[in-house]
Amino acid sequence: MKAIVVREFGSPEVLKLEDVPDPSPGPRQVLVRVKAVGVNPVDTYIRSGMYARKPTLPYTPGTDIAGVVERVGPEVAGIGTGDRVYAHGVAAGHGGSAELTVCEQPQVHALPPRLSFPQGAAIGVPYGTAWRALFMRAHARPGEAVLVHGGSGGVGVACIQIARAHGLRVIATAGTDQGLALVREQGAHDVLNHRQAGYLDQLLPMTAGQGVDVVLEMLANVNLDRDLDVIAPRARVVVIGSRGRVEIDARKTMGKDGAILGMTLFNASAEELHEIHAGIGAGLENGTLAPVVGREFPLAEAARAHAAVMEPGAFGKIVLIP
Ligand code: NAP
Repeated sequence: MKAIVVREFGSPEVLKLEDVPDPSPGPRQVLVRVKAVGVNPVDTYIRSGMYARKPTLPYTPGTDIAGVVERVGPEVAGIGTGDRVYAHGVAAGHGGSAELTVCEQPQVHALPPRLSFPQGAAIGVPYGTAWRALFMRAHARPGEAVLVHGGSGGVGVACIQIARAHGLRVIATAGTDQGLALVREQGAHDVLNHRQAGYLDQLLPMTAGQGVDVVLEMLANVNLDRDLDVIAPRARVVVIGSRGRVEIDARKTMGKDGAILGMTLFNASAEELHEIHAGIGAGLENGTLAPVVGREFPLAEAARAHAAVMEPGAFGKIVLIP
């Protein structure tokens, strides 16, 4: 089969399309014919060799896939050949950017007929991150107001859809006209352009002067201190993304009993992942959750996709098509 293989860490050009042997599933594993694979910013950090998690070289990147079950191991129950599935994660030693990949059974979930394979490849990390940040870290409740600070990308769109479906008031930001139109279309009640000077001054009037109860922050190194100016009493700020150091005035948290919470999806337990995908699955089934795919690249152009995911002007998710 064809697969993307990384033999050395470095720039996107280290992503090479190669012929490799077909994988086969172990007793509790599922072999999937991959129809689409999501490209996440973390895939680029890992590929660069600068990330805390370093796979053994050579490796095949990509953890969010959608496709059709080719074969299952003898101890797998409830999933069979021909099923349409999405997977959040692949088995150790395997990679999603390939024509075939192997997943552990708990990583594999039904892909409802209303969703395309590219949409299925946009679920795992983005929706898992949004769900865990909103409910397991921020403990958001219906009726609260949330600022999705960076709403136009893969995680942001998921945050908007999930928060909206759960009865929160949603304010979301983007950096382009196209991104602003997208976040509004995905359910944001109000939108702000994070490239406009002083844009957060408009937030307090949007919340009747109260501020937001929850901030889902995609770029904490730029925004964290200013987030603390627009939070309501007892607010929770969840750091989802940060690409550098930041100085904050910690006093801004004191008077409001505010909390700053870190979140990494890698820390999710098996129980949490089960709960997350049960919740997401319900939303995918009833149509309240529908991933947005902005760009598709052929598998051979993985390097272009890795470069694109780090450029400004996000519009939903970028996926590769084997
Ligand atoms: P993405 O699709 O590339 O989207 C990036 C988002 O950041 C876009 O909405 C972009 O908006 C926005 N952004 C750019 N400048 C901003 C600013 N000054 N203020 C606020 N937002 C800004 O990436 P993603 O997959 O959504 O991931 C977002 C971040 O979360 C990344 O840093 C990623 O590494 C991180 N992440 C963390 C976890 C975790 O477990 N903690 C999981 C997944 C992702 P425009 O392009 O419209 O300007």
